[in-house]
Amino acid sequence: MRPLKRTIHFDMHTQKEVYDVGSQFDAAAFAQTLYESKVKYITFFARCNRGYSYYPTKIGICHPSLNGRDMLGEIVRECHKHDIGVTAYVNAVLSQAVADAHPEWTRSRLKSGNRSELCFNTGYINHLESEAKEIFSMYPDLDGYFLDCIGLAAPCKQKECIDTMLKNGLDPDNQSQLLEFDHELKIEAARRVRDAVPAGKYFFCNGIKELQDEKYINEKFNTHYEVESVPGCGSWGYDCFPTLISYNRHFYNKVMYMAGRFQIEWTDFGGLRPEAALEYDAFTALAFGGQITIGDCMHPRGTFISPLMKTVKKVYSQIETVEKWTDNAKYVPEIGVYCTHNKTKEQHNTFIENLNVFKGAQRVLAELKYQFDFVDRHCDLSLYKVLILPDNMTLDKDEQSVISEYLKNGGNIISTGFSALNMDKTGFALPQWAFEYTGIDNARASYFTMDAENIPDMDVAIYNPAIRMKANDAENLANYVPSYPVGNVDYVYAQPDKPTGESVVARNDNVTHISFSLFTAYEGAAYPPHKYLLENLIKHYLPQKYITCDLPTYARATLTATEDYTLLHILSYCPERRGVPVVEEAIDLYNKSFIIKTPKSVKSVFDAQTQENIDFTQDEKGIHFNIDKIPGHRMIVLQY
Ligand SMILES: [Zn+2]
Repeated sequence: MRPLKRTIHFDMHTQKEVYDVGSQFDAAAFAQTLYESKVKYITFFARCNRGYSYYPTKIGICHPSLNGRDMLGEIVRECHKHDIGVTAYVNAVLSQAVADAHPEWTRSRLKSGNRSELCFNTGYINHLESEAKEIFSMYPDLDGYFLDCIGLAAPCKQKECIDTMLKNGLDPDNQSQLLEFDHELKIEAARRVRDAVPAGKYFFCNGIKELQDEKYINEKFNTHYEVESVPGCGSWGYDCFPTLISYNRHFYNKVMYMAGRFQIEWTDFGGLRPEAALEYDAFTALAFGGQITIGDCMHPRGTFISPLMKTVKKVYSQIETVEKWTDNAKYVPEIGVYCTHNKTKEQHNTFIENLNVFKGAQRVLAELKYQFDFVDRHCDLSLYKVLILPDNMTLDKDEQSVISEYLKNGGNIISTGFSALNMDKTGFALPQWAFEYTGIDNARASYFTMDAENIPDMDVAIYNPAIRMKANDAENLANYVPSYPVGNVDYVYAQPDKPTGESVVARNDNVTHISFSLFTAYEGAAYPPHKYLLENLIKHYLPQKYITCDLPTYARATLTATEDYTLLHILSYCPERRGVPVVEEAIDLYNKSFIIKTPKSVKSVFDAQTQENIDFTQDEKGIHFNIDKIPGHRMIVLQY
């Protein structure tokens, strides 16, 4: 299999009125430019979300102005001459020309020109499967298949689906049963297409929620994972990729950061993010143990956005020089953030339901330069000296036994908010939480006081839903201060009253609980005392971090490693909120000091790009060195 790295994901979704599709497309020149731009892999459209195919299909609908030309075949042939891999793109749910030809396959019988969504409980599922078979029979050396948008569509309410549900004894008016039925249809579509893709090819089904679905956890739908997350667009932002890869890298050997060139939304044709932004994306992917793919939207005539290719060449040339170090290096975690599998409501995925909680956790821990993984009960928890149960991780019987086992084996847990409560939220689920639960804090504003490093000596705001608790015989580390009993008034009238004797932070040996939802609070308010509160508690269990440094909070530092070396990744960029988050330039840093804890003694320390040696000393704390200049990013090799 050709390596999936230094990738470009070419989108092209073209209306029938576009009269000159492919008219300037020169596949040989195209592949040559990719090669010169250091691109190693591309995703290229076989069929777009308007329903048109870009190869001479016998079962689908070719774009009318393509006049039978085979863009896909030409690009596969020419890319392979340069050893560039090609994955074919097909949209699972959107295919307007196909929907217009087969209105009986759609979820909503809308007229053409709209975005009709196709239903898998119709003949469309056979079509989707046949399309994959046709593509691989025509292009047997194609490298992979990308099935997009499978999770996009809402449950179908057409008569056929209602009838099928009734026939299977399901109630279409029951939202939970409706979603379950829809989920099963999506799983079946993913399975049919996956099975049509020959062995040894890449396959990625974008949007299938098999993780955390116990029924399908072992049914490998994807050969790898692609985190679609264009930082400036929609709700993604810069926190999405590090959050998602920190969970997905347990389940997939390879995780791609599918960023994009777009300024405000995916396929915003005239948008082009600055070079520093794409450089930041690419080095972020490597820093978290992933690879980069840049999303582009090609002009229908088949031409490049040349300023993009100039930037790609600059960024991918840099990536190429460090790949001998990064290709096999794995992220090195020290803290686990635990996600339960409880099925709350009708959802299948506690992680996605609580994405903001995990985004908040990612941000706090990354700012503090901790190395972290997001984990669940399918992961080896013995790797983590500290486990965090963030905000909403209530424990059913199965989760209680996983957590008890972890504690019995010497682990330490910090839980926040409603985590560690039983499913009914009437008390802590396990006796190790030897604190007295006194109820939910419904007040508009509550506060705490704490005598600890970096916590101001005042009534500090909680900013978030909390529980109330007493430490009793356990250690009380922070006092609860309610607002005056003024009723449900605005924040401004809810000043702090006096301590009640209740606790906001309580510790019982290897279990510490923070009464408020610290990570949700940080995601919304980013209040530094909350971050330092957590750091103080982690330090108690983990006195020395893997990375000790004097980088500013906005900078990122991570470790990846192999048997032979540790890599320190340093990133100094600061997305600014300008309507959308923007990175326009890197921020140079000077004379920064590092202590890196490594498992083995180190022979040499040097820059991965320039090979320049760096003076270091070694003691029981780890490897000490200074870096004179960090121009946006540096990657340092600590060779054993
Ligand atoms: Zn249907």
